Amino acid sequence: MNKITNHMPTAELQAIDAAHHMHPFTANDELAKHGARVITRADGVTLTDSEGEQILDAMAGLWCVNIGYGRDELAEVAARQMKELPYYNTFFMSTHVPAIALAQKLAELAPGDLNHVFFASGGSEANDTNIRLVRRYWDLMGKPDKKVIISRKNAYHGTSMGSASLGGMQGMHAQGGMPIPDIVHIGQPYWYLEGGDMSPEEFGLMRARELEQKIDELGEGRVAAFIAEPIQGAGGVIIPPDSYWPEVRRICAERDILFIADEVITGFGRTGEWFGSQHYDLSPDIMTVAKGLSSGYAPIGGSLVSDKVAAVIGREEFTHGYTYSGHPVAAAVALENLRILEEERIVDHVRDEAAPYLAEKWHQLADHPFVGETTIVGMMASLALTADKSVRKPFKASPGTVGYMTRERCFGNNLIMRHVADRMIVAPPLVMTKSDIDTLFERAVKSLDEAYKDVKEAGLL
Ligand code: PMP
Repeated sequence: MNKITNHMPTAELQAIDAAHHMHPFTANDELAKHGARVITRADGVTLTDSEGEQILDAMAGLWCVNIGYGRDELAEVAARQMKELPYYNTFFMSTHVPAIALAQKLAELAPGDLNHVFFASGGSEANDTNIRLVRRYWDLMGKPDKKVIISRKNAYHGTSMGSASLGGMQGMHAQGGMPIPDIVHIGQPYWYLEGGDMSPEEFGLMRARELEQKIDELGEGRVAAFIAEPIQGAGGVIIPPDSYWPEVRRICAERDILFIADEVITGFGRTGEWFGSQHYDLSPDIMTVAKGLSSGYAPIGGSLVSDKVAAVIGREEFTHGYTYSGHPVAAAVALENLRILEEERIVDHVRDEAAPYLAEKWHQLADHPFVGETTIVGMMASLALTADKSVRKPFKASPGTVGYMTRERCFGNNLIMRHVADRMIVAPPLVMTKSDIDTLFERAVKSLDEAYKDVKEAGLL
């Protein structure tokens, strides 16, 4: 068999890929007809594909390449760690230096008293840990009936049976018997789609109070925790109305339940603070992290745990753990990534420079006849496509049709933007310069113009 390399013709790579590789969240038969885009290299904020196209990655991979591509320091650390200690576990009374150092660093960076970390390989695994952590916590507290976890419709918390059950994605629940028992979902603070005639502030309060109502309906004695992303990412970059989080905070403070902030996307500088919990002044008992923890250079995630919860969990054996919990190479890479984020003041760059400039440009897109609203916090932004902006009118097509058409126009213009239904999303690497943002904006405008024309011609307005 020939060795497969970057230099093979694209069509050949695509054919082998289609024959053997099952892609995540993909209709593989459909993909096989088109052929997957083959990415061969990346540097900074730019991907190169097998045709030599230079593509601006306004999604930072899957919201994860916070420090940008091509940082040799991380490769060097990984190689050094692989030679010194490529693997050892942290079970059976063992540990190693990368896990120790990363745990200490995370305790230092995390807000409040989140001084403990349980490592995983990504966000889904970490959220599975969280399900077990909160139920175990209440068991040990002598309240074994407190098992139910309240989450939100259209939340994304991962793809394993546990984490996808926490998530509120109908399409996922429809495939494979989810949610698992004792996970329930309340409404999301998505004013644009669901707010009707209410003001955003009224709507935000109403959706926050669904948490209180759900706790009362179930009985506080049955509720273990509430889990939420500070800003829903995969749900469409849903930035809640200003009234939402203060009200949730009030409810959590009055009720004896744990709060889990899923910061897999909002962590490590994305909002212009180290964590989204700082942006919204939240005090989670547990925080899920992954993605930006290593800027995607190595698979690693974890649950950051408060002193209060860790003290209880630590009393007895917690019968949980992954082969790769605290993997030394991944931990060493994450630590180096955090060093770069800190020493290069990348979070300050987001807050003071990149995010304000991106916001200025992004909000200019609101003038486009195709765009119903633009929203942004830090370096995560979305816009709603609409058939008539005066009434937030949907298109004459199933939701997502127009979003998909627009995404394809973006690809055609060498810009990676994602669509969720008929919202377009960006979450670029945090290191974007003003000139990168100008390029993003020019390509976005061109793509929106083209897609709008397509949509008009197809009679979908
Ligand atoms: N939580 C959130 C908020 C996420 O956005 C994601 C991934 N998009 C996950 C959890 C799952 O992480 P992973 O894909 O690393 O399992």
